[in-house]
Amino acid sequence: MIIALIIVPIGCNEKIEKQEKPQPVKEKSSNDSAPLKALIIDGENNHGIWPKTTMMMKDFLESTGLFNVDINRKAFTWQGPHHNVEVDDNYKIEELLKDYPIGEKEVGEAVSEPVADPNFSPNFSEYDVVISNLGWKSTHWNDETKMAFEKYMADGGGLVIVHAANNSFGDWDEYNQMIGLGGWGGRNTESGPYVYYDKIGQRIDDPSEGQCGSHGPQFEFKITTRSPEHPIMKDLPTEWLHTKDELYDRLRGPAKNMTVLATAFSDKDGNGPPWNKNVKGSDRHEPMLFTIEYKKGRVFHTALGHMDYSMECVGFITTLQRGSEWAATGKVSQSVPTDFPTSENTSARNWTL
Ligand SMILES: [Zn+2]
Repeated sequence: MIIALIIVPIGCNEKIEKQEKPQPVKEKSSNDSAPLKALIIDGENNHGIWPKTTMMMKDFLESTGLFNVDINRKAFTWQGPHHNVEVDDNYKIEELLKDYPIGEKEVGEAVSEPVADPNFSPNFSEYDVVISNLGWKSTHWNDETKMAFEKYMADGGGLVIVHAANNSFGDWDEYNQMIGLGGWGGRNTESGPYVYYDKIGQRIDDPSEGQCGSHGPQFEFKITTRSPEHPIMKDLPTEWLHTKDELYDRLRGPAKNMTVLATAFSDKDGNGPPWNKNVKGSDRHEPMLFTIEYKKGRVFHTALGHMDYSMECVGFITTLQRGSEWAATGKVSQSVPTDFPTSENTSARNWTL
């Protein structure tokens, strides 16, 4: 989405340097040989391709042999404006829902504007990890479901936030604590600091006033590892080239107990939105992959994954697989695939159902 706001940077002297926290060591205590139970939640996302990307992520996770993946879809399905225009700009949600069926559950009613589903109540506690494929304008859950989710996370649940899932629920405080940083969704200076890496590789948590969430046109960009010893990042290259995607910048949030795993550079000219000449790229190394410790729970957050082709990147797939395992168990048992991208070349796997 696009929000036209003028950036009003203030006081560089207000910036706070912050050291990374050590990683959590809590590990899953149940039978290690049993598949992990994962749940993808979806149904409302401004990224209209979501019925497909849900199936892609389910397949990516199950192909590891580590996960069984269920899908819980809101009853009223809303497809936003972002399609894979390179394929078909008229791809309707009804067709997508039919092309990527989720099994026995009835396809929900497609609506032109998001409508809250009062009966949306996944049994979170059954799962080792919940993956959100929700997005901008996702409607609030009923209080009981929100409380159940907060309890699930507080008790040691796992959560994976994918791209526009960090647009959701800007006014849900506990959710914002869980996801560390978010964009749009009514977020503003009050939501918390910007977090970025400066030119000499120091992490900055910056409370300056200014907009929350921006990106430029999609392009291929380099990902830089910042926490090479973290289980999710171990043995990954220091730099790798990601396939075409949106580079989110100026996310804000509580950023408490947050570890930045990898960043990408938002170039002033290259990542400014062409639809708003008043906004430039942030000129900062922006968090793309990060983790948050929320009470006893673990969260892996990837800002990547705008479109189906963005998710075909082996870097996206690998970090999703490893991040989901880490969120579920605190460990990563998967090795790095041989077709992982390099600093010079992207690497993608063509995905079909
Ligand atoms: Zn996007």
